[in-house]
Amino acid sequence: MNQSELLEARKHIIRISRDLHEIGLLVRTWGNISSRVDDKHFLITPSGIKYEDLTPEMISIVDMDDLSYEGDYQPSSEYKVHAVAYKVRKDCNFIVHTHQVFASCAGTMGIRKVFSYFEDEDLTIPVARYALPGTKKLADSVAHTLRKFKDSNGIIMENHGTLCLGRNSNEAVFEAEMMESACNDFLIDVCKMDMTHGVEVGFSSHLEGDKIVYDTKDTPERVKRIHEMIYGKRPDAKYIIHNKSEAVMMVSRRANHMRPLLDDFAQLIGTSVKIPNNEGEVYNNIKKNVNVVFVPNDGAYCIGSTEDDAEAVAIVLDKGCIAYMAVMRNGEGHYLSYFECLKMNRHYRKSYSKLADIKE
Ligand SMILES: [Zn+2]
Repeated sequence: MNQSELLEARKHIIRISRDLHEIGLLVRTWGNISSRVDDKHFLITPSGIKYEDLTPEMISIVDMDDLSYEGDYQPSSEYKVHAVAYKVRKDCNFIVHTHQVFASCAGTMGIRKVFSYFEDEDLTIPVARYALPGTKKLADSVAHTLRKFKDSNGIIMENHGTLCLGRNSNEAVFEAEMMESACNDFLIDVCKMDMTHGVEVGFSSHLEGDKIVYDTKDTPERVKRIHEMIYGKRPDAKYIIHNKSEAVMMVSRRANHMRPLLDDFAQLIGTSVKIPNNEGEVYNNIKKNVNVVFVPNDGAYCIGSTEDDAEAVAIVLDKGCIAYMAVMRNGEGHYLSYFECLKMNRHYRKSYSKLADIKE
C-alpha cells in the first residue's frame, strides 16, 4: 500500500466504526477495528478514544510478528488478538472486536458453543476460553478457537465480547450483526429472557460545589436521601445516574449479590456488588471502589467523578444485569475469579487516574 492507499484504509476504518457505533454494536471507547495492510502489517484503532473523535492519524500500523507499531497513538490493547487472527486466517482482511450486549452475555454461561439460528439457518458460534484482556494467553485462546473452527467468521471471547472476521468490512460487520441477532434468540429460547437493553434514567443528580443539583424538579425526598448518602460517603462522586432499565430493575428485585461475569463490569463497577434486602441497609452498601449502589425494587445509582464516567458505569451495569439474569436462568455460568477481577479493577483505576492527570 502506498501512502494515499493507507490514508484511504484509515478513513475506511473510521467510517465503519461510525456505522457500528450508529447501530449500537460499538459504544464509547470499547471494542476496536482493524484492517490488513499486507501479510505482515495491519491498521488498528487506538486505545481509549471515542469513535466520534477518531481521525486518520490515530489509526496506527502494527507489525504482526514483533507487535511494534508506528505513530503517536497507542494501538488498542487487544492488538495481539488481531495479530494472531490475521496470521491464522490468511483469507481475512478486516476484523471487528465488539463488546456487544447479547453475544457478550451469551458468552458468560460457561458453554463452548452457542447453538442458534439466523434467518432459518442453523448457526454455531464458538466461544474462546477466558483469559485476562491484553494477555498472550487470550491471543492464544482466540488462535486456538479460530484454528479449530476454520469456517467460523465470528467467535465469542468468553466473559468479554466478540471477534468478527471478514474478507472485507461488509462481511465482518454482517457477522457482528448476525451474531447479535442469533445470541438474542439464544437468550430468548434457552434462558427465557427477551430483554431490552440500555439505560433507563430515573432520578439523577450532580454536584455544583457542595450543592446537589437534581435533574428532575420533583425528585422525591426518599430518593434525595439516597443521593445525599452517596455523596456523603463517596467524596470522589460528582455525578449520579439512576438506572432503572429492565435488567437493572429485575436484579434490584431478585438478587442478593453480583459477582462479575464480564470484564468491563470488573473494571468499571467493582469486584463484588451486594443488593440490600431493604432500604435501611443501603447506607452500609455504599463502598469505596464499587461504583453502583442498588436500592431494593428501585434499580441502581451509578457513580462517576464525571458525567461521562457515570454514564459508562450505567451502560456496563445494564449489560452486567442481563448477563446475571441469563446465568441465573441457565442455571450455570462462568464467573471471573476474585483475583482476575481485582487485577482488572486496579489496572483500570490506575490507568484511568493517569489519563485524568494528563487531561488536567
Ligand atoms: Zn474488548
